[in-house]
Amino acid sequence: MKFSENAIKVLERRYLSKDEEGNLIETVEGLFRRVANHIAEADKHYDSNSDTKALAEEFFEMMTNLEFMPNSPTLMNAGKPLGQLSACFVLPVPDSMDGIFDAVKNAALIHKSGGGTGFSFSRIRPAGSSVRSTGGVASGPISFMKVFNAATEAVKQGGTRRGANMGILRVDHPNITEFIQCKKDSAEITNFNISVGITEKFMEAVKADTYYDLIDPKTKEVVGQKRAKEVYDLIVDMAWNNGEPGIVFLDRLNRDNVVPSQGEIESTNPCGEQPLLPYESCNLGSINLNAVLDEEEGKFVINYAKLARIVDSAVHFLDNVIDMNKYPLEEIEKTTKSTRKIGLGVMGFADLLFKLGIPYNSEEAIAVAGKIMEFIETRGREASRELAKTRGPFPLFGESIFKDEEPIRNATVTTIAPTGTISIICGASGGVEPLFAISFIRNVMDNDELLEVHDYFRKVAEERGFYSDELMREIAQKGSLAHVEGVPEDVKRVFVTAHDISPEYHIRMQAAFQEFTDNAVSKTVNFPNSATREDVSDVYRLAYELGCKGVTIYRDGSRDLQVLNVGKVK
Ligand code: UDP
Repeated sequence: MKFSENAIKVLERRYLSKDEEGNLIETVEGLFRRVANHIAEADKHYDSNSDTKALAEEFFEMMTNLEFMPNSPTLMNAGKPLGQLSACFVLPVPDSMDGIFDAVKNAALIHKSGGGTGFSFSRIRPAGSSVRSTGGVASGPISFMKVFNAATEAVKQGGTRRGANMGILRVDHPNITEFIQCKKDSAEITNFNISVGITEKFMEAVKADTYYDLIDPKTKEVVGQKRAKEVYDLIVDMAWNNGEPGIVFLDRLNRDNVVPSQGEIESTNPCGEQPLLPYESCNLGSINLNAVLDEEEGKFVINYAKLARIVDSAVHFLDNVIDMNKYPLEEIEKTTKSTRKIGLGVMGFADLLFKLGIPYNSEEAIAVAGKIMEFIETRGREASRELAKTRGPFPLFGESIFKDEEPIRNATVTTIAPTGTISIICGASGGVEPLFAISFIRNVMDNDELLEVHDYFRKVAEERGFYSDELMREIAQKGSLAHVEGVPEDVKRVFVTAHDISPEYHIRMQAAFQEFTDNAVSKTVNFPNSATREDVSDVYRLAYELGCKGVTIYRDGSRDLQVLNVGKVK
């Protein structure tokens, strides 16, 4: 099998089944057989005579050839008693004690199973307003977020992976300024990513520099006004400071809401790529773009026939996951099965560009992104329509925005996930992000240092005769090839990393993928430490103009604990 040493380590630590004493009772092959067999089983629901053995083999091959990987919960739980297979959930948080604590409980159950939860806190009445039953005073959305946070913290120890949350507050909620600053000094909201839910109205008010209304979600009354630009500048300032809050364009999420009759989309999953209705869940899967490259006479070309084959099989796989999933709540099962959303995306995009010899920060790369994603989206929808012929369209198709088109099995087909862990399993670069470093030094036990170099870069460096451990160390220290002597100019141009790429190109790449993605794109826009607030603001505006559904930024060095420090060998 093709798994790297690193991949096997991750699989052993977190994915392979263990007995009560923690001993492995499953092999890597066993894991993929378990997943493939279980997911193939769903075909029996539609045709009791179907050859699920052959299908299981197809799925097994697709995963172990590193062509496609489903999200982590599917790998961890398929065919096991827990059986929860989705990465993404959105839960409603109503304005009542019962409702809020139901959501806390439901989130805990989801976290235990490896899923992440998103919430909008916008329905909670503002701090200071009255509580009729007790004659008391409401504590407001931010204080309740701390309760969710504490519950997440407690489940962490028992769960299979860290519970992650998204918290969203509408920009017209009366507590918006408190929300924007809520992660500034608080250690009580660490298990949340936060995003401000921006409306078109608000953006227009920023542009015109006018005031906008704050609305009490309970009474629906206008309870105040704020100068839009002041709130916008506060968001920018905080994001510049430490990367949060992000922003999400609510009207855009709802423009793509396939079944508006089911209510509004208020939130996304934790990493922002999957907008969902309350009680909806979605399972993701990603195609490894390294696997669709053929090498012909030393040159790489995209094999579209192979890509088509993988898309077809992946859509089949993800649709089956919906049937085989064990849902944490009946309500979630009902909502999820009524739209049957799936999220097929890609990983290894940065690797693909290296191999094609195209710099990430170039017009050509933007064009390649659009071409690949358009192909996947078009083909993915065709595959979903094909499934609808035998399995029927998703149950709410008749009241969906597609009702006059050819029936389709899944209300959404495409999502670009971060692929945080599955990209390690596949030895691919994450999602559609550029590489963070070409080489870096990993601290291992006993203060040993391990030099890690990007596989393909190493190959090129060796072939071109400029490889040395010393040079790779220098690259690790500097964090980029740009100022390293001894690397040929054409190589420097192609092997760019996150900090070589201007924020504008980061956003343009996100927009290029978004254009052909039903759901949203997980992407972080990296800024150098020297970036100004104005730079951040410019990127927000550009994202808005280019049709992105949200933005997450990070200015280098702005958070105390940075996972990977470019330029510092620790
Ligand atoms: N997620 C989570 N906890 C984690 C990592 C991810 O709940 O520690 C959820 C979250 O909803 C995120 C989604 O899984 O948006 C997809 O993340 P990613 O692609 O990184 O997951 P992978 O399948 O690679 O583990």
